[in-house]
Amino acid sequence: MPDQDKQASGPDSFDVVVIGGGPAGYPAAIRAAQNKLRVACIDEWKNHDGIAAFGGTCLNAGCIPSKALLESTELYHRTQEEFAAHGIKVSGVTLDLAQMQKRKSGIVRAMTQGILALFKAAGVTPLQGHGKLLPGRRIEFTPHEGERRGLTARHVVLASGSAPIELRSAPFREPHIVDSWGALEFAAVPKRLGVIGAGVIGLELGSVWRRLGAQVVVLEALPDFMPFADQQLAREALRHFKKLGLDIRLGTKVTGAAVSGGAVEVTYEDGKGAQRLAVDRLVVAIGRRPYTKDLLGPETGVRLDERGFITVDETCRTGVEGVWAIGDCVRGPMLAHKGKEEGVMVADLIAGRFGEMNYNVIPSVIYTAPEIAWVGLTEEQVKASGREYKSGVFPFLASGRARALEQPAGFAKIVAARDDDEILGVHIVGPMAGELIAEAVLAMEYAASSEDLQRTIHAHPTLAEAVHEAALATDKRSIDAINR
Ligand code: FAD
Ligand code: NAD
Repeated sequence: MPDQDKQASGPDSFDVVVIGGGPAGYPAAIRAAQNKLRVACIDEWKNHDGIAAFGGTCLNAGCIPSKALLESTELYHRTQEEFAAHGIKVSGVTLDLAQMQKRKSGIVRAMTQGILALFKAAGVTPLQGHGKLLPGRRIEFTPHEGERRGLTARHVVLASGSAPIELRSAPFREPHIVDSWGALEFAAVPKRLGVIGAGVIGLELGSVWRRLGAQVVVLEALPDFMPFADQQLAREALRHFKKLGLDIRLGTKVTGAAVSGGAVEVTYEDGKGAQRLAVDRLVVAIGRRPYTKDLLGPETGVRLDERGFITVDETCRTGVEGVWAIGDCVRGPMLAHKGKEEGVMVADLIAGRFGEMNYNVIPSVIYTAPEIAWVGLTEEQVKASGREYKSGVFPFLASGRARALEQPAGFAKIVAARDDDEILGVHIVGPMAGELIAEAVLAMEYAASSEDLQRTIHAHPTLAEAVHEAALATDKRSIDAINR
C-alpha cells in the first residue's frame, strides 16, 4: 500500500508529528496535511507576555518584527533626509517609539495567529508545549497546561530551530546586554548603542537604531567586512553604512563588558592595543547555534555533529527510519526560506511524492537601506574555481525608476561563465534588492544564460531593468550605461 494511503488512528496517533512550529516546521505540517496525512505540530514558544505563539524565531523575534522596525525607521529617516528633495516640506517630525513598537507587535500577533488559522483550515492539530522524541517514533508531549502524554507517529520531523550564541566575554544581562530579541524591544532609543558582530543582525538592527538617532558602534572580529559576500558588493554596502553613520570597527576582539550605573563599559583590543567603549545598551549578534535542548530522549539514534547540528543527508533524513530534521537545527544557511523549502520537501517525500531542494540557489537578503541581496557564487568564488567568467554591472544611478524613487544608490551585478554563458551569481545592492533577486533566483533555477535575461523584456521604467541591463553588461552591450 502506498505510504500516503495508510492512515494513523487513535487520538494520539499521527502520520506525522512535527516538533517546532517555526518557518521550517509549520510549512512541513501544512504540506503534510495537504498530502492527506494526519498531522500534529508541537511548539513551545512563549512571548514575553507569556502567551504561546506558533511561528518560532522568525515570526516572533526575527524576520517579521525586524522588518517591521526596518520599514518604520526607514520612513522616519526618509521623511527627514529625502522629502525636501521631492519638494515636500515637513517640520516637527517626531518619533513615537511606543506606537512604532505597538505596530510591530500587532503585525507579529496577526501573523502568528494566522498560523493557527492555517492549521485549522488544513486540518493540522496544534499542540502547544514541549515535544521530546523517544525511540520507536514515540513522542513525549508536555503541554503548557495539562498532563504530559505520549504520542506516536509514523514520521517525526524535528524543526527545533536555533538560539543566539552567547559571548563569554560579554554574557547577556537584560536589559543592558541583550540578544537580537532584546534589541527589537527597546522602549527608548539608546543614546549610545554597541553592537558586537557586523553580520546580518548587527547591520539590520544597527541601522534601525541609528536611524532613530542612536550613536552606533559595531565591533567585528574579522578584519574584512562581509567576507561571505561578493567583495564589490561589500565595498559598496560599507560605503552606505558609513554614510548612515554606523561606526563599524573591524578586527576587534571584545575582552569584557561590565554593567555599572546603567551603562555598559566594553573593553576590546584592536591593532592599536586595548580600547574602551561606553554604551547605554549592548547587542551581542555573533551568530546563532542549533537548539536541541531536551529534544532527544536516550537512544533515539539521532546524531548531532560537533557543532550541535542534527546530522541529516541532502533530503533531511536523519538516518533513523521515519525521523527527519529541517531548518536552523540542521546544516546550511540559517534562513527562514531555506527551512520552509526543506519542510515542504520532507512532507512531500513522506507522502511518496517528488521532493528536492536546490541548495545552490538560496537567496540571501539584508534588509538595510539600500537593500543587499545575492544568489549563487561571488566573483571571488568563481575566480577561485578557475572557471573563465565575465561580469556585468549596472548602476542604479542610470535607472530612471531609482532616480524617481530618490534612491539611485548601488548596482546590480551578474557573474556568468565565459564558455556557455550560464549565470553563476547575481549580486544587488540598491532599492528593493530583496525583491529584484527573485528574478535572478528563477533564472538560475532554470539554468538560464545571461543571454536569456538579455532577451527577456522588462517593463520600463522599473528597478528590474537594472538586472536586465547587468545581463547586457556581461557582454558589454548595456544600452543605458557606459560599458567598461
Ligand atoms: P525557529 O524559527 O527557531 O523555530 C523553532 C521553533 O521550535 C520555536 O518556536 C521553538 O520554540 C520550537 N521548539 C524548539 N524545541 C522544541 C521542543 N523540544 N518542543 C516544542 N517546540 C520546540 N531569516 C530570513 O530568511 N529572513 C530574515 O529576514 C531573517 N531575519 C531575522 C532577524 C532576526 C533578528 C533573527 C534572530 C533571525 C532572522 N532570520 C531571518 C533567521 C530566521 O528567523 C531563522 O532562519 C528561522 O526562524 C529558522 O526557522 P526554524 O523553523 O528552523 O526555527
Ligand atoms: P552572522 O553569522 O550573520 O554574523 C555574525 C558576525 O559576528 C560575523 O560577522 C562574525 O564574524 C562576527 N563575530 C563572531 N564572533 C565575534 C566576536 N567574538 N566579536 C566580534 N564579532 C564576532 O550572525 P547574526 O548576525 O547573529 O545572525 C544569525 C543568523 O540569523 C544568521 O545565520 C542569519 O542568516 C540569520 N539572519 C538572517 C537575516 C536575513 O536574512 N535578513 C536577518 C537576521 C538574521
